[in-house]
Amino acid sequence: MVSKINSIAVLGAGTMGAGIAALAADKDYKVLLLDINEEAAQKGKDSMISERSPMLSDLSKINNVSIGSFDKNFESIKDYDWVCEVVVEKLDIKREIFKKIEKYRKDGSIVSSNTSGIPLRDITENMPDRLLNDVCITHFFNPVKVMKLCELIPGENTSKEVMNNLSEFLTNVMGKGVVYGKDTVNFIGNRIGCYLILKGLHEGSNARGLGLSQEVIDGIMSRPLGLPPTGLYGLVDLIGLDVMHSVGKNLAVNLPEGDMGENYVNLPVEEQNMFDKGQLGRKTGGGFYRMQKLDNGDKKKEVFDLDTSLWRDAVKSSAEGDLSMILEDSIRGNYAWEVMGSTLLYAANLIPEIADDIVNIDRAMRWGFAWSKGPFEMMDELGPINIINKCKEKNITIPSMLEVLLNSNSDKFYTSDNKYLTIEGEYKNIPK
Ligand code: NAD
Repeated sequence: MVSKINSIAVLGAGTMGAGIAALAADKDYKVLLLDINEEAAQKGKDSMISERSPMLSDLSKINNVSIGSFDKNFESIKDYDWVCEVVVEKLDIKREIFKKIEKYRKDGSIVSSNTSGIPLRDITENMPDRLLNDVCITHFFNPVKVMKLCELIPGENTSKEVMNNLSEFLTNVMGKGVVYGKDTVNFIGNRIGCYLILKGLHEGSNARGLGLSQEVIDGIMSRPLGLPPTGLYGLVDLIGLDVMHSVGKNLAVNLPEGDMGENYVNLPVEEQNMFDKGQLGRKTGGGFYRMQKLDNGDKKKEVFDLDTSLWRDAVKSSAEGDLSMILEDSIRGNYAWEVMGSTLLYAANLIPEIADDIVNIDRAMRWGFAWSKGPFEMMDELGPINIINKCKEKNITIPSMLEVLLNSNSDKFYTSDNKYLTIEGEYKNIPK
């Protein structure tokens, strides 16, 4: 295996490929950027410096990037130490690219996929051992320059050296916060984050029936709960309903039987109607919200009322309160419990399935989804015993990590001297 990464070939020059290539070029590494044709690769290269906030901190570093096309220049990957696949999220297309990577790459090079949620075992099924030893997932978050998280996920046969080498490079050169996940659907951040979103949309129908408007729901699903200011519907506008739709399809195929997310893999009826007519979010000029230009040049924000299917003026809303709203006996408290509370229980049930410990889960949600605290840190703020009592009150099975806490006679997941509770019920130092 290469002893040190000195060069990177990035395959796919879209949003994420350009971002990853720019980050490496900015750190003075030699980068090859390929796409379906040279125009697409050039467009990706141009985007590194043409955006309002350029991806490169030093524009001259663009000279570290050379471009080409899959048809004409694939064999050039033989000169690169790390080959990072970042093409569209389609299994068959990724598999085709992987077959070509294996044909042309040099011995000992590292290979990774930036898939958002396709299991690595599906991408590499029936591929040679040489590849299986050298391959893993490097899941960056958008925008690459800004988001600290990179999830690193090994396959069944990936060598320890590959993982250590990449981890060192991602941390020390690319400045990322590495989180270790497992080869499970959507890995860590998207598994928990998309559960929150999909559950939030489903519970939204009930909550609207009880008088909470979409703006109020967004007010709850932001600052009070330590979530980003977009709220729920605003976040989906940013991501795109089409992306949430395909996330749901992937979950439907790959979630383990009995998973808490099973009932929420389809969009609710109103959101499905929006998807069907192509009202997807910011990328289509409006989704749940849109900005309208007035004759006098001002702009006004409108909301697409899911119950009437009509646009109306959006009402400014900011919910008072904090995380303790989850335990509040009120309509908004019930919504917060059903969505955020349920997400905390979900996370507490996912160890060791998606990660070995609470630290990796908390970091994934803070670094990748910009939550102010991770799920276990939130439970510590609320008092885990209060959550356990609420579960008992509602006849909900206590999630496994809360059981561990109970059985170890502990009252918090973290201690004031920087230790965390392991699945074995012991406290260990939080790793750097
Ligand atoms: P994108 O659409 O911006 O770019 C995809 C690239 O794939 C394009 O450059 C396109 O030319 C190329 N492509 C299209 N059809 C192809 C084909 N048949 N063969 C080879 N290449 C083809 O997408 P993106 O957002 O950069 O996503 C790339 C990968 O990163 C996906 O797997 C996605 O799930 C993942 N990802 C995306 C985000 C995000 O927020 N955008 C975040 C994390 C991971």
